[in-house]
Amino acid sequence: MPNPAAPTADAGHGVHPFPHRHLTGIFGLQPWEIGFLLDEAEQWIALNRGTAKHDNRLAGLTVINAFFENSTRTLLSFEIAGKRLGADVVNMSVAQSSVKKGETLIDTAMTLNAMRADVIVIRHEASGAVQLIADKVDCPVLNAGDGRHEHPTQGLLDALTIRRRKGRIAGLVVAICGDVLHSRVARSNILALTALAAEVRVVGPPTLIPAAIERMGVKRFTDFDAGLDGADVVMMLRLQRERMSGGFVPSPREYHALYGLTPERLARAAPDALVMHPGPMNRGVEIASSVADDPLRSAITEQVEMGVAVRMACLDVLTRARRGIEGWA
Ligand code: ASP
Repeated sequence: MPNPAAPTADAGHGVHPFPHRHLTGIFGLQPWEIGFLLDEAEQWIALNRGTAKHDNRLAGLTVINAFFENSTRTLLSFEIAGKRLGADVVNMSVAQSSVKKGETLIDTAMTLNAMRADVIVIRHEASGAVQLIADKVDCPVLNAGDGRHEHPTQGLLDALTIRRRKGRIAGLVVAICGDVLHSRVARSNILALTALAAEVRVVGPPTLIPAAIERMGVKRFTDFDAGLDGADVVMMLRLQRERMSGGFVPSPREYHALYGLTPERLARAAPDALVMHPGPMNRGVEIASSVADDPLRSAITEQVEMGVAVRMACLDVLTRARRGIEGWA
């Protein structure tokens, strides 16, 4: 369903509905630009559900997925998205790259550029690394997650999942729960969902909620039950132990007791509340399996499905100028 808040496609720009060369974050995007990407993604859902999953609009273009940090679903999703649009997709992983030999990030970026990539998709452990590369190369750059900063396609796929399941985003109460401090998913979701007029709560232990988070237009809760009260969407986050330098939580068991989503806890939320998680899940830590696997409440596999559609939309939109599509050059 199209975003009711979105004005007509080129309103306010005069050029085209997405006047950005890169997608480094949700930050700075207008609500109608976010709505436009969600609308574009809708068209790919049916194609992806069919047997012939091909559209050749990116034929001849080279998409390089440069992943400097581990990934399962995001890398696979970008690879599938690029291939379904007919692009030549190359995956570069750090284990096999010169980064291990000490090559700097900029040198690596310039190498990919010299190979005439048409789109570079980057995941990196350092916040800001993607912007650094975007400033140096000649082609569109897509952020597939940089440190704790942003993961814009995750924010978009989550917004699309919510919009499809709930029929709207504006006015919904969305509780983003857990390790907000280390989560780029939380940041991109807060930016996207507040832009689309949801009421966003962040819920978690005080040690895992960034100071001054209220400045992002959200409400802070440290009491899990209070934060869940009446929520339409409960978005759980992974406890990101690899990004923790000290004792942010006493133990996974205690964390589960206080902040783990169980069926009893979920009963605090709205009766039809949707449960989400970006994956990978720590079952039994931030979420109980019985909740994660509940087909009526959990949208977790749908999130993965929407991820492919959103990434197809982003690859398509960001390459329109390069492909000489009228009005986009
Ligand atoms: N897969 C998501 C990310 O890359 C969430 C997570 O790792 O917890 O940020």
